Amino acid sequence: MYRTHTCGELRMDHVGQEVNLAGWVQTVRKFGSITFVDLRDRYGITQLLFGESLNNQLDETPLGREFVLQVSGTVTERTNKNKNIPTGDVEITVSSYKILNTAKTPPFTIQDDTDGGDELRMKYRYLDLRRNEVKKNLELRYRVNRSVRNFLDSRGFMDIETPFLIKSTPEGARDFVVPSRMNPNEFYALPQSPQTFKQLLMVSGYDRYYQIVKCFRDEDLRADRQPEFTQIDCEMSFVEQEDILNTFEDMVKHVFQEIKGITFNEPFPRMTWDHAMEFYGNDKPDIRFDMKLVNLTDLVKGQGFKVFDEAELVVAINAKGLSEYTRKQLDELTEWVKRPQIGMNGLIYVKYNTDGTLKSSVDKFFDETKLKTWAEKAQAQPGDLILVLAGREERTRKAMSELRLEIGERLGLRNKNEFKPLWVIDFPLFEYAEEENRWVARHHPFTSPKPDQLALMDDTTKYGQIKANAYDIVLNGTEIGGGSIRIFQRDLQEKMFAALGMSPDEARHKFGFLLGAFEYGAPPHGGIAFGFDRLCSLLGGSESIRDFIAFPKNNSGRDVMLDAPSSIDDAQLQELRIDLVKEIKQ
Ligand code: ASP
Repeated sequence: MYRTHTCGELRMDHVGQEVNLAGWVQTVRKFGSITFVDLRDRYGITQLLFGESLNNQLDETPLGREFVLQVSGTVTERTNKNKNIPTGDVEITVSSYKILNTAKTPPFTIQDDTDGGDELRMKYRYLDLRRNEVKKNLELRYRVNRSVRNFLDSRGFMDIETPFLIKSTPEGARDFVVPSRMNPNEFYALPQSPQTFKQLLMVSGYDRYYQIVKCFRDEDLRADRQPEFTQIDCEMSFVEQEDILNTFEDMVKHVFQEIKGITFNEPFPRMTWDHAMEFYGNDKPDIRFDMKLVNLTDLVKGQGFKVFDEAELVVAINAKGLSEYTRKQLDELTEWVKRPQIGMNGLIYVKYNTDGTLKSSVDKFFDETKLKTWAEKAQAQPGDLILVLAGREERTRKAMSELRLEIGERLGLRNKNEFKPLWVIDFPLFEYAEEENRWVARHHPFTSPKPDQLALMDDTTKYGQIKANAYDIVLNGTEIGGGSIRIFQRDLQEKMFAALGMSPDEARHKFGFLLGAFEYGAPPHGGIAFGFDRLCSLLGGSESIRDFIAFPKNNSGRDVMLDAPSSIDDAQLQELRIDLVKEIKQ
């Protein structure tokens, strides 16, 4: 037997027992004629004591870091106990051992505070995975996975696999494509999500479906995105929005209870998309802190200050307690809003001093009485600092939402251990894509308009006003899931495709299977998908989803361990009848 126990298992109760352990050598410490070795496996670390009789042998073939070792020996009480590890009361007095495998010196130290940089650890991910930090994250991921499955199982959901080699599913990103050898010049697409399949499963009568499933999107990788990521994908039949929100709110509560021991007693707040945009400047508000956006446009326009007079939107936040900000700090904040990512031309401030006076960067244009009206509107008090941005509506709102988060961060209002979920509902059905000069689906083309707004679908000029039965669940300023009640009638689905600029032929070519299915008794249905990697990272208190994926890609979408993507040989290309464009080939 390689092992009778794991390296995390032995305690005082085991003293006197003969045991076998197997694992990796973490450290070797030689003291005269005895040697201590820390042996590590997935479960922990146990100290081994090699006495005099074995030391000659160890001198001849020294143990190195990460050697794979099997030992037999007796569990003994330690004289110097180590309170920092669960097995710290005991050690194994080794009677015999066997080196199962040697190891080269690893490129970085395999311990909590490793000396390895990101790229190096990605390249040797299989070694990095031995480290506690990474292991803890994968364990958490597994526990979340199991918790989700248990919950969904208890509610009658069935896990049904759907194919990976499919025809394009539009979720707003580019598809990864796979050439078909058996069907020359034809391609599969990898699913951006199982969206159409889960809808077809509803038509087939599997009224509660789920899958924890890989999705593939060929997007330019913004920070912390992965080209392949995992969703908890769910769909239900005979439901209204209310049923979905309640079911999945229960799921999130269940997971938080099991994983973090946190109970949410209150229902999650619900906020309309319009409200979120107006008061938080984005559709995933961080409601751990208030600091709502205050619209000053009407109050400040037409008073001779060009920046305001030319602006579509003048918006403020009240940075509570920051009136003491120095000139230097304000200049630095101004530079912050001028960065290309934020894109504003400047920042205006009003200090509401503790002595009750008001001082602003636009004193030339607005006297104290005027500034007081701003302060009132922003509910500012002595000691507060009002920050104002002005410009084009969309950009200004977005910039202010970023500034709000930044100030929230500086004021320590974004506590990682505080969890504030909410539902954002009533999303617009469409959004206008300037570059393409057409309306696109804000969620995806299968999302249904609010029933009382169906008539607006006949008038292009009204598209911007139509709201959808679509919802997102947001946690601490991050979207963790989103879904919608679906269209389930062929004619409405056709109308939707047409609204998106698809000709009837194109719609039939791309989605004939779905339109056809809708003619065979499709039930009303709706669903949601959660970003599983993101959910895990939030539960684990980390910014990065990569830390929760066993084998992630880097920021350029590369697997640096495999060195993928990579070229393929000519024979393979020929078989696929693919001719590479010359420059790329070289
Ligand atoms: N398929 C959608 C997505 O990936 C989720 C849904 O509508 O259920 O965003």
